[in-house]
Amino acid sequence: MGRRLLFLGPQGVGKGTQAAKLAKLIGVPHVSTGDMLRQAVAEGTDLGMRAKAVMDAGGLVSDDLVVAMVKERFAKSDAQCGYLLDGFPRNESQAVALDRAINGNAVELVISLTADEDELLRRMEARAEEEGRTDDTPEAMQRRLALYWEETAPLADYYPAHDVPVATVDGMGTIDEVFHRVVAALAEIDP
Ligand code: AMP
Repeated sequence: MGRRLLFLGPQGVGKGTQAAKLAKLIGVPHVSTGDMLRQAVAEGTDLGMRAKAVMDAGGLVSDDLVVAMVKERFAKSDAQCGYLLDGFPRNESQAVALDRAINGNAVELVISLTADEDELLRRMEARAEEEGRTDDTPEAMQRRLALYWEETAPLADYYPAHDVPVATVDGMGTIDEVFHRVVAALAEIDP
């Protein structure tokens, strides 16, 4: 079993970009539930049709659907040598479901990316213009951020309480500057 990592951070912090770069560097699959859900919507699958309205409104797709999707992903052969989770778990109940699914193969490190609120909103607005995501309306962006602070941010306390270290990494600066910090945080638990 290779590396088992988890990225935590609010929308706009650059989590997806950093997660993709790190997954490539260490050679594990980048498991992004947001990407998987967007793909399901694009393909018009049953899951995609059930998830679309919730996603467009900036809400959270039901735990049952997301957990089933992640379990299916973990069953694929490439995930047997580790994984980097991005956007999952989003709340404590998903974290508990993850612990059960990985059955003793605990997450090694949580990388928590941070940035100040003004910078987050600025980046989300820039991305909204560039990518035209249907959930990048001002209302949905605010709802996603609010849900992050309410439901997801508390995971930064959940993991240490379950003996999983959390490295807090400053997400301000260029992509390369932040990536150096991410790699340094990983090197610290495994020099
Ligand atoms: P993201 O790309 O991670 O920002 O996810 C985009 C949208 O997909 C979110 O706003 C949610 O509606 C949905 N989503 C992604 N991951 C999860 C998750 N773990 N639990 C529930 N909903 C999720």
